[in-house]
Amino acid sequence: MTVAVIGGGVVGRAVALSLARRGERVTMIDAGGGDGSAASWGNAGHLATEQVAPLASPATIRSVPHRLFVRGGALDLPWSQAATWLPFALRLLAASTPRRFEAGSAALRGLLAAAIPAWRRLAAAADVADLVREEGHFVAWPDAASAAAGIAGWQAADTGTARFEAAGEADLARLRALSPQVAAAIRFAGSGQIADLDRLAQALDAALAAAGVETVCDTAELVRDGGRVAIRGVAADRIVVAAGIGSAAPMAAAGHRVPLIAERGYHIRGRADRWPGDLPPVVFEDRSIIVTRYADSVQVAGFVELGRAGAAPDPRKWARLERHVAELGLPVAGPYRRWMGARPTLPDYLPAIGRSTRAGNLYYAFGHQHLGLTLAAVTGELVADLMTGGAPAIDLSPFAIDRFRKMMP
Ligand SMILES: Cc1cc2nc3c(=O)[nH]c(=O)nc-3n(C[C@H](O)[C@H](O)[C@H](O)COP(=O)(O)OP(=O)(O)OC[C@H]3O[C@@H](n4cnc5c(N)ncnc54)[C@H](O)[C@@H]3O)c2cc1C
Repeated sequence: MTVAVIGGGVVGRAVALSLARRGERVTMIDAGGGDGSAASWGNAGHLATEQVAPLASPATIRSVPHRLFVRGGALDLPWSQAATWLPFALRLLAASTPRRFEAGSAALRGLLAAAIPAWRRLAAAADVADLVREEGHFVAWPDAASAAAGIAGWQAADTGTARFEAAGEADLARLRALSPQVAAAIRFAGSGQIADLDRLAQALDAALAAAGVETVCDTAELVRDGGRVAIRGVAADRIVVAAGIGSAAPMAAAGHRVPLIAERGYHIRGRADRWPGDLPPVVFEDRSIIVTRYADSVQVAGFVELGRAGAAPDPRKWARLERHVAELGLPVAGPYRRWMGARPTLPDYLPAIGRSTRAGNLYYAFGHQHLGLTLAAVTGELVADLMTGGAPAIDLSPFAIDRFRKMMP
């Protein structure tokens, strides 16, 4: 039996590797060809096990006016793309009832608890165990009032298996050496980081090749064939759609209407020589940015811009990231490399992982929103369980794509 995986981001690669390691003959088809534009290769590197609360929540809805880009915040709803984000926003509202929020939290809690153990196994299989760093992360604030509000928020939040405490004197001194704007900080334990995304991509490629996975650089076109699906030009008995924001088109070809939106984020990368190599990611919460040290760069990332994946980037976001660096006084030196990528997000902020009810040989794993890096390894294992006859260790019913059937026209 052969399997074709559509998509070679971190989720597609994790799925392909898990299947190949269980003896399946796998072809992975990726349109990007490793050009680094996919979200998987420009994200913040944070294994965010603490983010149990889905962003589809009453609190998120209440916070929208304060978070808008035009008011200095991180959320942008460009008017020119209202036709894209308005239907999504309505579905998000419908998914943000207290009942659905509780159910979503319960579903994410299980996935996130399994995330880092699964990463340990995946990294070991790719011979890069050192890429999974489990030293937590920091959240910092510029004054006592914002720290008190921020800490109260985290105390009230469900952080799953992650825990936090006030940063100790030594940690605070390190953070203050990076920015005089750090008045207070907390340190999480139980979260982590992928030490370098470029090395991760290379290691996964090498592991895929070693496991016999054939990789094809192309845009896969799915066609319906009775109760099954096929990919033009590729022979495969079973197909997995794991194409990030590109998943809606193949899923539509199979008869599933999928309300995915591109939640675009931006980063700048500068020289790393003055940033400590061993410092875990730092979130500057009042500015909604996260700073991550990679092997040879420091990355500053942020923004949630809802719209079309293919729309031109908005250079004002890179300019604002550079302004944050300057105002915080961070030791990150330009010239900066600028990047923008799309988080693949569904209105209830849960991923879609499962088997199609429309086509017997179709499986899917996409819609991982802000958590795709964190959840890639566990997603790979769950899809492999589903396809190789093992019972998935986690109940996948909350992630079935048919949950949107009633919401779609
Ligand atoms: C600024 C930013 C910061 C982030 N920070 C974090 C973080 O710290 N931690 C975290 O867990 N997550 C983070 N994320 C989210 C995370 O990056 C994504 O959820 C994750 O990368 C999604 O991975 P993916 O493999 O599903 O999709 P992608 O990375 O988008 O990969 C999909 C691939 O499929 C290919 N493709 C699409 N359509 C087709 C087709 N028809 N045929 C063949 N190939 C196709 C594309 O070319 C692409 O290579 C962040 C995202 C952004 C933008």
